[in-house]
Amino acid sequence: MIIDTHVHVLSYPSLQDLSEKITTTEDLITFRTRYPRLYKATLSESPVDNSQYLISDMDKHGVSCALVQARPGSVTNEQVADVVKKYPDRLAGLFRIGHDQEAAGYLDDPKPVRETAPEEIKFCIEKLHMKGMGEVFVRAFTTEIHPEKIAKDLDPIMNTLGKYKVPVQFPTAWSQFPGGLYYGNPIFVDEIAQRHPDVPIILTKMGRGIGYYFDTSMAVALRNTNIFFDTVGTIGSHLRIAVDKIGAERVMFGTDWSATWRWISKPADLYTIRLKTLDDAGLSDREREQVLWKTAVQVFKLETEEHSFVKRMD
Ligand SMILES: [Zn+2]
Repeated sequence: MIIDTHVHVLSYPSLQDLSEKITTTEDLITFRTRYPRLYKATLSESPVDNSQYLISDMDKHGVSCALVQARPGSVTNEQVADVVKKYPDRLAGLFRIGHDQEAAGYLDDPKPVRETAPEEIKFCIEKLHMKGMGEVFVRAFTTEIHPEKIAKDLDPIMNTLGKYKVPVQFPTAWSQFPGGLYYGNPIFVDEIAQRHPDVPIILTKMGRGIGYYFDTSMAVALRNTNIFFDTVGTIGSHLRIAVDKIGAERVMFGTDWSATWRWISKPADLYTIRLKTLDDAGLSDREREQVLWKTAVQVFKLETEEHSFVKRMD
């Protein structure tokens, strides 16, 4: 049983065949600056459903279920919910807010987006039956850089998540999108985590294999039991340390499958690369099972769902 907790669905016509342009992780990081015209085209195109390719990749690698969220850009939470409806026994949804700014550049004043966020969260949980908040693009909600001021700006969002007791993802290290690198250092999340102990906070990518970001991710995780990691882009040695220090119960499997990541072919396809990290970490059978699906079931409360992938497990 494998649950992929980190997937972005929907694509754009300009990204429909990147087989020649993205073969390695390094190709992907530089895609925006190597192909600025192609990247810009995605900002005005309408999203297209690419979930058939996701399901096909999941089938190839024995992945039962994925938690899916919007890729940065104009993809709406309703469009993500529509994709989930097509595969109700395979997919569950996470909502995003401000992710349009992650792709297209951020607004000077984050206040209007911040103020309407609690209503959008309520809608996504109550009407779209989503399981939590996907990757936060912090700059869409704040211009602050002091941890207490960032936390204060994010309090209304975190309080709303706390009311529903649903998790949230904060990304670590770099992204392929413009700006926002400052918030890739998750040291500021410590303040947010201690203010909102009832909200599970997932530091996605746990530093992406970069020592500097991994160290701060670990420092925050060691101090707060509501901090979790996903394994996207990490390396075996970091995963080994994390499981030894905070336990496999606080680590979950993820790939970051998306319209761009799905083209990776060297040294292997995306799922093969991500699954190999668990081998490299030398996880025991028990730890492996915990990371591959058990932590996700607990954190996203999937056991209370009617999803058939959970029933199959019983
Ligand atoms: Zn992601």
